[in-house]
Amino acid sequence: MRAEGALRCHLPGVPARAAAKLLAPAGWWRFLAVFSLLAPAGWWRFLAVFSLLAPAGWWRFLAVFSLLAAAAIFALLFAFLGTLACLTVGYHLPGEYGYFDGGVGLAMAPVAGKWELTGRFGEDRGDHVHMGIDLACPEGTPVLAVAPGRVRLSSSPAGGLEVWLYGEDGRTYYYAHLSGYAVSDGEPVSPGRVIGYVGSTGRSTGPHLHFGVMVGGKWVDPLPLLRAGVLPEDLAYRDVDEGRLAAWLRARRSMLADRVGEIIRAAREVGVDPLLLVAITGQEQGFVPEGSPPAMLGNPFNVYGSWQRYSPGLYESARIAARTVVRLSRGRPEGVHPIYWLSARENPNGVYAEDPNWWRGVTYWFEVLKKQVL
Ligand SMILES: [Zn+2]
Repeated sequence: MRAEGALRCHLPGVPARAAAKLLAPAGWWRFLAVFSLLAPAGWWRFLAVFSLLAPAGWWRFLAVFSLLAAAAIFALLFAFLGTLACLTVGYHLPGEYGYFDGGVGLAMAPVAGKWELTGRFGEDRGDHVHMGIDLACPEGTPVLAVAPGRVRLSSSPAGGLEVWLYGEDGRTYYYAHLSGYAVSDGEPVSPGRVIGYVGSTGRSTGPHLHFGVMVGGKWVDPLPLLRAGVLPEDLAYRDVDEGRLAAWLRARRSMLADRVGEIIRAAREVGVDPLLLVAITGQEQGFVPEGSPPAMLGNPFNVYGSWQRYSPGLYESARIAARTVVRLSRGRPEGVHPIYWLSARENPNGVYAEDPNWWRGVTYWFEVLKKQVL
C-alpha cells in the first residue's frame, strides 16, 4: 500500500489498481500481454503505462506489440466503416436521385469543333511511349482551356509550341503542336477560354492537337475524362457579369442576389454555365424568395432529394449540381435537347428530377437569363 501511494506520487493520473499491477511479478506481464490483445479502447492508457515500465523481456515486447496491433485493428475498423459510409452516400443516393459528386470528367473538349482520334495513350512510338491523345482537326481550330487555372507557354523540338495549363482542379493539362497562342505566359484562364490554335509545329505529320493530362506528376489517359463528360456547347461555362446577374435576382427579391458569386465560382470550377445553375434554382425554388428558410439557401438546387434533408451550403450544393449536370450530359443522342436529356427517362446516367416537366421550366429560365443578363 505504501508503494501504491509512492507510485501515484510519481505517476499522477495513474489509478491505484494500475499502480498495483505495476508492482506485480513477471506472471502478471504474461497475463497483461495476452489480455491486451483483446483489450477494448479504454485500456489503451493503462497498456501504454505498463508497456513503458515493464521489465525488459519477451513479454514486454509482446505488450508493446499488441498495443500497436490493437491500434492497427482500430485503424482497419475505421477504414472499413469509412468505406461503407462512402459507398452508401456515393452509390445509394445517386442511384435514387441521379445526383453525383464523384470524380467526373472534363466539362469540355480541348478543341472547339469536331475532332478525330488519331493517336491513343500508351501507344508504342518506337523511341517513346505516347503519353497523351492526338486529336486531328483543321489548322487554326481554337484550342480551349478545359479547366480554370493558369497557363505557361513553352516550346520544344518534339512538342513545338506548347501550353501547360495548371488547373485549379489539381490536374496539369498539356497542349502541343500549336500554330499560335491566344494567351500570354502566366495568364489566369477560365474554362472555355481560347488559349491557342491547332497547328503542326514540332514533331508532327499534320495538323492535330496532342493533349496530355497529368495527375500527381503522372501522365494519365485523357480519353476516359473526355468520354466521362463534355457538355454540349450551350451548357458549358461562360463568363457572366456578377453585378448584372445579382441585379436581375434582386429584382425578383431573391436571397441568392447577394451570394450569387458562390454559384459562379462553383460553375467555373466545374465548367458549367452559371446561368444554367441559376435557372435550376428558378425551377426548383423560385430563386429562393426573401423570407425562405436558411436551409433552402443552403441547397436551392435540391441536390440529394431536398433541402430539408440535405443543406451543405450554397457553394457546395452548386458544385454538386454542376457535377451532376456534367455527368448526366454524357451520351446524349444527336438532336436531343441538352436540358431535356438531363432528366430524360432514357438517360442511362440517371435523371436530375422525376418531374417530366422539369426540363421545360429550366429551359424557360435559362433562355430568359441568357436574354436579360448576357
Ligand atoms: Zn501526340
